[in-house]
Amino acid sequence: MVPFLDVKAINERFSAELESAFSEVLQSGWYVLGEQNKAFEREFSAYCGVKHCVGCANGLDALRLAIKALGFGAGDEIIVPANTYIASILAITDNLCTPVLVEPNLETYNIDVNLIESHITPKTKAILVVHLYGQAVDMQKVWELAQKYHLKIIEDSAQAHGAIYQSKRVGSLGDVSGFSFFPGKNLGALGDGGCVVSNDEALIQKVRALGNYGSHIKYENLYAGLNSRLDEIQVAFLRIKLKALDEDNKRRQEIARMYREHIYNEHVILPQCVSEESHVWHLFVVRSAQRERLQEHLRQSGIQTLIHYPIPPHKQQAYKQYNHLSLPITERIHKEVLSLPISPVMSEEQVSVVIESVNAFRG
Ligand SMILES: *Cc1c(COP(=O)(O)O)cnc(C)c1O
Repeated sequence: MVPFLDVKAINERFSAELESAFSEVLQSGWYVLGEQNKAFEREFSAYCGVKHCVGCANGLDALRLAIKALGFGAGDEIIVPANTYIASILAITDNLCTPVLVEPNLETYNIDVNLIESHITPKTKAILVVHLYGQAVDMQKVWELAQKYHLKIIEDSAQAHGAIYQSKRVGSLGDVSGFSFFPGKNLGALGDGGCVVSNDEALIQKVRALGNYGSHIKYENLYAGLNSRLDEIQVAFLRIKLKALDEDNKRRQEIARMYREHIYNEHVILPQCVSEESHVWHLFVVRSAQRERLQEHLRQSGIQTLIHYPIPPHKQQAYKQYNHLSLPITERIHKEVLSLPISPVMSEEQVSVVIESVNAFRG
């Protein structure tokens, strides 16, 4: 049996440390916005190579708060890849902005940077890049366009903690970046969590206030904010797991290398990566014209796979106003993708079982 992702096994590696962190927070008597948060904000911003970080309740809130803090609202357009996880789009529409959906590159699954310029209008305020499946977006073109048209760059880094582009980590590639610490992410808490990072101190202070009832000073409300904070207990856990993040990502990269070297099947298209360090393999996503049959074949070998994602945002019932759009590459991706198991706790034997079973698929 090869589970898709064994989060219990991932966390059990840190049992002793997690338990002692729990005791420490319990004994401190301080559970929201305390010393653990301050320390994590320093450690995680240093990890990303940015100046500032603020915790929040989850990855969706990180993006919602980032867009709100930038001051965008009704009538503003934000460019975003059409094949992203729904949260990237929800963060835009929740702020009453209009998502302008751009097709991805079929090889990398990331936004096709050559299609961005033709979608820019006088209403465009930002480009929201998503480092999908763990691979950093090819930012050079995005930087040039942002400069030329005076646009902000927002990164959705929820799947790509630690990925590197031109020697810089994800989170430091735009004006502001949102991360998720959902348990299944490369850096996961034991519950929900997220954060916003940026080099812009004023922006981060605004996010901090917006996530704390709109308040910089207790009982004085500058904005109509929300309550979106990161618990001390989750932060204490994250600080332990952050120390293992680079090792964990390295193991994911090793597994991806084995898959890419040893999977040979005319019915299966492997994912492309631009450079070894640019991809931290949150997901290993193959394509097949016979996706359902491939999934069933692997299931019969005891291999659990998932589909990320079965329905693109513009075909969701929640977004009826976009249902008419034709985005053929995005639609094709959603019909063909299949995510193979990948995680830092997979054994060599499990990796071999996956390789052999994919290779044995006869279409
Ligand atoms: C997980 C995820 C989010 C949202 O994070 P949550 O913590 O689950 O709210 C946003 N964008 C992408 C690409 C994600 O994978």
